[in-house]
Amino acid sequence: MSSAVIPVLLYHSVNDRRGDSWGVVSRAEFSRHVEVISRSGRQPITISLLAAGLRGEQALPHRPVAITFDDGYLDTYDAVALLGRRALRSTIYVTTANIGALDRLSAAQIAELARTPGVEVGAHAVHHRRLDELDEGELAEEMRDSKAHLERLTGERVDSFAYPHGAYDRRVRAAVIAAGYRSAAAVKNALSHGRDDPFAIARWTVTARTSAERLAQVLEGEGVPPAPPRERLRTRAYRTARRQRRRVLGVRSTQW
Ligand SMILES: [Zn+2]
Repeated sequence: MSSAVIPVLLYHSVNDRRGDSWGVVSRAEFSRHVEVISRSGRQPITISLLAAGLRGEQALPHRPVAITFDDGYLDTYDAVALLGRRALRSTIYVTTANIGALDRLSAAQIAELARTPGVEVGAHAVHHRRLDELDEGELAEEMRDSKAHLERLTGERVDSFAYPHGAYDRRVRAAVIAAGYRSAAAVKNALSHGRDDPFAIARWTVTARTSAERLAQVLEGEGVPPAPPRERLRTRAYRTARRQRRRVLGVRSTQW
């Protein structure tokens, strides 16, 4: 496995509504991103293929890239269609309790996307809670029920999971394996690579401020660190300290 970096892009919403926050990329900007990805010479692969590569079960193409969408926004449907017209593969992680909500994908759309060649549907838990703060029962439910829901809906196996808020620790990672998933995506804002952990795949968040020029640099691995191999997992003590610091500073966790 080569040590070359593998960018895994994390998008949330692609739309032109005013007043939306940092995670929303405008449609015009997204078209420019698609152009940049197309021209980069990188080959978009689904997360399942990337994970199979990380496990050493499958050879990865030269210069791979993975494009992912979290939460299951309604506008992901059009974004994925735009990628599809350029034969660019993508993976969508759906929060199942929100299926069919006003600004989210419907059950029928998710089933259709799952049947679309080059599109993978994965789970993003049921309620989008921080999994590292849940007890054993809730944690297992979030993973198991979202998987079962999507499998019922698509008629296909759901092998891939993305941690809500990118939050995971040793216990959460073990639970995702126990629930039968074959990969899990984290955030890290770093680049993945051949020695990345298939159950904590590093992704880089694309935001409202990500220009096409910046994206082109990221696709070349410029200005973004590679993820540490098998990142040291955070301890409970670390989380407690962080929560306290947040309270003191009044820092709010992000919406996603
Ligand atoms: Zn999310």
